[in-house]
Amino acid sequence: MSEDTTKAAETSGDALENLSTENRQFPPSAEFAANAVVKLGEYEAANADRPAFWGKQARELLSWSKPFTKTLDWTNPPFATWFEDGEINAAYNALDRHVEAGNGERVAIYFEGEPGDTRTYTYAQLTDEVKKAANAFEALGLAKGDRVAVYLPMIPEAVITLLACARIGAIHSVVFGGFSADALRSRIDDAEAKLVVTADGTFRRGKPSALKPAVDEALTAPGHSVENVVVVRRNGQDVNWVQGRDKWWDDTVGAASTEHAAVGHAAEHPLFILYTSGTTGKPKGILHTTGGYLTQTAYTHKAVFDLHPETDVFWCTADVGWVTGHSYVTYAPLINGATQVIYEGTPDSPHQGRFWEIVQKYKVSILYTAPTAIRTFMKWGEDIPAKYDLSSIRVLGSVGEPINPEAWMWYRRVIGGDLAPVVDTWWQTETGAIMIAPLPGVTSAKPGSAQTPLPGIAVDVVDELGTPVPDGHGGYLVIREPWPAMLRGIWGDNDRYKDTYWSRFDDMYFAGDGAKKDEDGDVWLLGRVDDVMNVSGHRLSTTEIESALVSHPSVAEAAVVGAADETTGQAVVAFVILRGSAVEDADIVTTLRNHVGKEIGPIAKPKTILVVPELPKTRSGKITRRLLKDIAEGREAGDSSTLADNTVMNQISASLKA
Ligand code: ATP
Ligand code: MG
Repeated sequence: MSEDTTKAAETSGDALENLSTENRQFPPSAEFAANAVVKLGEYEAANADRPAFWGKQARELLSWSKPFTKTLDWTNPPFATWFEDGEINAAYNALDRHVEAGNGERVAIYFEGEPGDTRTYTYAQLTDEVKKAANAFEALGLAKGDRVAVYLPMIPEAVITLLACARIGAIHSVVFGGFSADALRSRIDDAEAKLVVTADGTFRRGKPSALKPAVDEALTAPGHSVENVVVVRRNGQDVNWVQGRDKWWDDTVGAASTEHAAVGHAAEHPLFILYTSGTTGKPKGILHTTGGYLTQTAYTHKAVFDLHPETDVFWCTADVGWVTGHSYVTYAPLINGATQVIYEGTPDSPHQGRFWEIVQKYKVSILYTAPTAIRTFMKWGEDIPAKYDLSSIRVLGSVGEPINPEAWMWYRRVIGGDLAPVVDTWWQTETGAIMIAPLPGVTSAKPGSAQTPLPGIAVDVVDELGTPVPDGHGGYLVIREPWPAMLRGIWGDNDRYKDTYWSRFDDMYFAGDGAKKDEDGDVWLLGRVDDVMNVSGHRLSTTEIESALVSHPSVAEAAVVGAADETTGQAVVAFVILRGSAVEDADIVTTLRNHVGKEIGPIAKPKTILVVPELPKTRSGKITRRLLKDIAEGREAGDSSTLADNTVMNQISASLKA
């Protein structure tokens, strides 16, 4: 053990070390605060009686076909029910009621295809499309409770399909368009889907990219539950056709009637199943139900993004294959009557300014994207966004991973004109909606921190034994009380639900993430508990070391893992992508080690730093550290089937051999 680690080891027994401090703060402007939808008093009112607060939101934000009389039932934990005796139709809430209220001409969706084709749907038009799809699906024999696998690109038909399912009480299960035939088949089988909705293909980086062949391949082996496949014509590629099974969207949905009555479904009727992204292992079929989910997604969308639906243009860049594309594309914006942008393609097609061109074109006022995208934009350079008029932007959101403080600062300064509040939103597929985030008109924001549990949400950071840690210390993130959008289980596996989330601590939901409270009690997310490194008895999170690396001007992206080490138990191994100009620097490894030492202390200095061309990421942009750990420990890398780009692991191995 070296001298510096010995010294630090004597002073620490924390479940997770607190390494970094952040002194910058950005309070909202007086004008923003004055016009904010949610004000400071909301916390106190909500936290005094959480179920009552959520009951109030459910009544104010949603239209119930049968009002509920009960809010929360937690008599059989960990199985909660919310608003149990109420009845509600999600699609009616997202569509018909806005038309009935005279807002049928308001734009619901501005769609921008990757090749530059566009479509605009008003609320009235979108309502008609969803009614047609609901009629068409029913005509194919689909009934309430049946499961539908959705394997579509990011096009309006994805939203239409999901809402049509919700309308008739069918349960949708979206599978990322980038996943393989095997991944699709296992999800079809797990949920016993009766219908698959797909497309001929999509466009990716200027080229047609097929989807239908994966569906055909998935359904080749007998023994599946699928009766029909509805195919949207998107990119015009030739497709194989199975007579009797396959139907064109245009022939079925296109020919259906626009008359369809929305009946109320029980508040606890399943709305969807969504398999987690698989960052840490075998995906779980997360089950969400209707009333509580809609309540919390609608509330958080309004409160966290300060939504003014008459004037804002909202753009969440998430794919519908991820939970963010469910909660903050398909449901909340439409429930709240907002106008939103949907974009099919990648940020660099046909050029690296595409996102900013879209912001300028549609006057996007609220942008919600992921740290991985922000770091990529930083890498490309700020002269690119500088070419566009981004003055419409007034709120910026981040989700998916901890946002490094320097990425946060860049986002606010370059995209937000040094004015727009940045809201870092922590949540999971399992939580259904945002749980921890600043409120843009209330909170004095800190770069890199999600800061505060939302009104009505009881989050804590605890040690190994489940005792809350004092301010200034790290531990495990838990949720103390049930929340409306919480998962209701894992599809078909109650035991796995209890084991995964409710067995680590008594009566608390274990999120699987490390976190710390700073001296003000604000919460900082520190990455997965599975990724925590133990170096000479110090439990170090990946996040702070990665952020220290990214704060160096030569580094574009960084991922850190703990590799087995004879002397220290584990050693910190860092994988970094350099910015163009730094690649020739022979001393870069020494420079970066010293930089980390200076930023957060000697204990955190990586033992090894490997320069790589890419990092393995899931389709939702999360770094898959378990694969890097395999490399750091000299093993063959494990299952990479949920990666966005399957070739990345080979690129990394090749670069390290070179
Ligand atoms: P799996 O559970 O199969 O490994 P996943 O956890 O990657 O998949 P998601 O539910 O999409 O699938 O991701 C939730 C996780 O993403 C959180 O547990 C957390 O680790 C991370 N995360 C999301 N938002 C934030 C944020 N704002 N700050 C820090 N981490 C975040
Ligand atoms: Mg997870």
